[in-house]
Amino acid sequence: MATDQDDLRRKALAIHERLCAVYGCPIAYFHSLDPLSELISSLLSHRTRNADSGRAFKALRARYADWALLRDAPVAEVEETIQGVTWPEQKAPRLKAVLAAITERHGSLTLDFLAGMPVAEARAWLEGIPGVGPKTSAAVLSFSTLRQAALPVDSHHHRVAQRTGLIPRSMSVGPSHVALAAQLPADWDAQQIYDNHEVMMLHGQRCCFYRSPACRRCAILDLCPTGQGILHGGEAVEAEGASENAASVRP
Ligand code: SF4
Repeated sequence: MATDQDDLRRKALAIHERLCAVYGCPIAYFHSLDPLSELISSLLSHRTRNADSGRAFKALRARYADWALLRDAPVAEVEETIQGVTWPEQKAPRLKAVLAAITERHGSLTLDFLAGMPVAEARAWLEGIPGVGPKTSAAVLSFSTLRQAALPVDSHHHRVAQRTGLIPRSMSVGPSHVALAAQLPADWDAQQIYDNHEVMMLHGQRCCFYRSPACRRCAILDLCPTGQGILHGGEAVEAEGASENAASVRP
């Protein structure tokens, strides 16, 4: 007997295939950073425009020849270096604390050892570091040279998932990582998982806008109760709590 979860899996796959046709899968990886650099980049990107976090990452790279120097640098110096990101006064001490925690827990400042771990174990190891949540752990494993099958969910991806009914409106970004990953085929490889995140994010950026979604030209309108409500029932778009300006996980 088909369950609700089976229906959600079928719908997630249909949305994926439709959006892949629109945005062109497989989608090229945008980064080839080692996992530690990807973690730093990801921490900088929180609620920050991609261009600004990219500039801050380059400034850190230019100032610190290796990440141990960043870990040991005065916090005021780090804060000054990453000016331009949102909340540099919080991110500077957090960056240093995360690097110190990795050094303490692993014995040296690297994340290359994650390559030998199953994805779930690697994510749990990363999320054991204060300040590292599911979005960041998935970004490190997926976007870095580790190229592992982990699904990040950014604010755009989350909004599309809510509106299409893949997750409830009340589900926040954190728990949505487990719910959305569970809807994807278990045998998908890293590229397919990455593609799923990318097409959902791109759709949020280019069509399913925060305030005025372009439902009339949406490729998944027939799969989306929100879009049908807007077009046929005059339903207003609800604010789900993530702003249009919220940054993607992509630095
Ligand atoms: S139909 Fe509208 S609300 Fe639904 S995914 Fe498309 S753009 Fe977003």
